[in-house]
Formats: sequence, C-alpha cells, structure tokens
Amino acid sequence: MNKFDAIVVGGGIVGLATAAALHKQGAKTLVIEKNAFATGATVRNFGMLWPIGQTLGEMRDIAMRSRELWLENLSGHGIWFNECGSLHLAYAADEYAVLEEYVRIAADPEIRMLTPEETMQKSRPLRQDGLLGAMWSPYELCVDPRITASKLAGALESSGVEFRFGRSATHVGEGRVATVDADFTAERIYVCPGADSDGVGGKELADAGMEKVRLQMLRAVPNDASYQIGAHLCAGLTLLHYRNFRDCASLGPLRARLVDEMPDYMEHGIHVLVSQHGDGSLTLGDSHHYGPHFAPYSSEAVDDLILEYLDRFLPTESFSIAQRWDGVYGKHPIEPFLVLDTEPGVTIIGALGGAGMTLSFGVAERVVNRG
Ligand SMILES: Cc1cc2nc3c(=O)[nH]c(=O)nc-3n(C[C@H](O)[C@H](O)[C@H](O)COP(=O)(O)OP(=O)(O)OC[C@H]3O[C@@H](n4cnc5c(N)ncnc54)[C@H](O)[C@@H]3O)c2cc1C
Repeated sequence: MNKFDAIVVGGGIVGLATAAALHKQGAKTLVIEKNAFATGATVRNFGMLWPIGQTLGEMRDIAMRSRELWLENLSGHGIWFNECGSLHLAYAADEYAVLEEYVRIAADPEIRMLTPEETMQKSRPLRQDGLLGAMWSPYELCVDPRITASKLAGALESSGVEFRFGRSATHVGEGRVATVDADFTAERIYVCPGADSDGVGGKELADAGMEKVRLQMLRAVPNDASYQIGAHLCAGLTLLHYRNFRDCASLGPLRARLVDEMPDYMEHGIHVLVSQHGDGSLTLGDSHHYGPHFAPYSSEAVDDLILEYLDRFLPTESFSIAQRWDGVYGKHPIEPFLVLDTEPGVTIIGALGGAGMTLSFGVAERVVNRG
C-alpha cells in the first residue's frame, strides 16, 4: 500500500511540477504536504510567469520550456490563466535607454519598444503624463496563485497521483519517507520544501547557501468592474531587480540616479509590479528584506512607498486595498536554483527565488528526466 515509484515532499508549485513530470513518465507518485493545502510562497505571489526576467541563454530556455509546460497543464486541466504579456514602462530617458539596449541584445522580434500611444492602447489605465514608451514582451502569462496550486493538485489527483495533505515528512532517507503516523517507500524521493529551513531538506539548502527573503504584498479591488490593466506592469525600479538587464551598459547610470534619488526604496529593496487576475483583482508589491529571521509585523511605511511609486504610473484612486500579506522565498546569491543529490535516490530542489513560479515546470522536468 505504501510503496511508490516516487515520493515528492512538499505540495508547493515545485513539488506539484515535479509530481506532474513524474506522472508523465508513468511513475506511481505520492505527494506529501504538511498543511491541509499549500500556504507558502506558491499562494502568496503575483502569479506572474515571467520569462523576460531570466538571463538570455540557458535560463531563458528553461523559462520558455516551463511556459510551454505551464500552458499544457493549465489548458489541459481547465485552470484560469491569461496570456497577457508584459510592459516595462519608461518615464525617464535613462529608463528608456536600458529598455532599448535590452531589446537590441535580446534580438527577438516579438520583444520591442512601443510608443506612448501604442503603450496606452495595451494598458488604458496607465498615467500618460511623462510616459516615454515601454518595452513589450508577449511571453508573460498570469495565473491566480490562490487557486492554481489547489486546482493543479486536484487535477493531478484525478489523474492518479496520490496526495497526503496535513502530514509532515519527518525523515527522508534510504528509500523511505517517514511521517508521524506512516512510512512510505520509493526508489526516487524529491524534497521540495520551499524556504522552510526547520524541516526535511531545510538544513541542506541552508548549508548550500540558500538565503531567505521576505516580501510585502497587497491586493486591490478596482472601483469599476470593467477596469483592465491589459498586461503585467512594471517601471524603472524593476530594471535594477532582474538579472536580464545586467548586460546593459546603460544600467549603470540609471542605477546611480535611482540610488541617489530613492534611498528609501533601495533600503527596503522595493520595486513595483502589478498583475491582474480573473476576478479583476490586482496583486501589487513588493519589498525585499533578507533573513534569516524576520519580525512578524508588516511595515505600513513600506506599503506606502510601494503605493506611492505605483501611483507614478498607475493612478491608485481607481482601486482600493483589500488585503495585505507577506511571503518568504529562498534564493541563492549566485545560482538561479539548487538541486542537491544528498544520497542515491534523494534529491532536494529549492531556492528558485523570485522566479519559482516561472521556472518550476522547466526545472522539475530537467531534474526528473536526468539520466
Ligand atoms: C511574495 C512573493 C511573490 C512572488 N512572485 C512571483 C511571481 O510572480 N512569479 C514567480 O515566478 N515567482 C514568484 N515568487 C517566487 C515563487 O512564489 C517561489 O519561488 C515558489 O512558489 C517556491 O515554490 P516551492 O514549491 O519551492 O515553495 P512553497 O510554495 O513554499 O512550497 C513548499 C511546500 O512544502 C511544504 N513542506 C515543507 N516541508 C515539508 C515537510 N517536511 N513535509 C511536508 N511538506 C512540507 C510546505 O508546507 C509548502 O507547502 C514570489 C514569491 C513571493 C514570496
């Protein structure tokens, strides 16, 4: 009864993507999740599948393959998503210069600069004053993190993957996973514990250099039910955040200006992204505070900074704030993710950082399909 081909510990997006890849191989698979449903980073994020943020080359390839697999799973299981694309907005000449340089380097005819008029056509609610244009990419997708993981788990369960929710794996090794009330065996065990450093896999990820990052997030409800932002939105501060822009020589002067003009934003690691879900609500954020330990309180000052910056490109009087929360992800200072083979048949996957949704399916497929 408790014998499987493969066991996955962790029912966040990395565990679910790993289970999906194993199931595709025909492996009899069990997922063990300690909560009644996923409550970690997977349900706390923007739902942005954001290949544009990856460095060109291998990471971009993984993100684009992940996108294909996401689409396969979302369409296959009837889970809501939006092929919305993304706009990086420029309200200053130095921001425009970085975006233009990136478009040249990326050399993909689908990724291009838009005039202010073209930008407004893609996203009507934007602030037009001072808008110099935007970089458009069609590849970004939106999912609703609050429903996606549970729907995906439900779909996998219907197709034969077994789940044990509300069970914490307390020991992994020698082909065995122990929970408080049962033991399970398998030749292949994948541990996907997220940023949780107290349990199984946490020590190994921390020893390999995983850091914890805490983000503050908000959800807003538009005043008008027909309000549509049209695409994922971000602006100048985001250019300092993602690795894809690091090859742009024009990034240096922009960074110097923003560091000088916006010290509060630098102190709290704030850049501002907006996504919109099927029910019309907007997810807004975020800030970045580095662990290992965090105060359990959110800072109103940080939320105010996020909203002030947002108002520079998206008038905030059009919606009201409905919810606030925080989330923690694990990231490595250099590696885009960690795959640790700790003993024969046991692999820990983690530290996918702020791109874990984007990369999940691509990374999981690579790991599961290794020779
Ligand atoms: C605020 C925020 C915004 C983000 N925005 C985006 C975004 O828009 N796009 C993007 O690509 N990425 C984004 N990310 C990153 C992304 O959400 C994470 O990288 C990703 O969700 C990590 O998935 P995971 O499965 O590794 O971890 P988690 O979602 O934390 O899942 C791990 C699961 O393992 C379970 N678990 C742990 N230990 C055990 C155990 N011993 N036994 C059983 N179960 C266990 C936990 O209960 C948990 O459910 C964001 C992250 C945050 C925090």
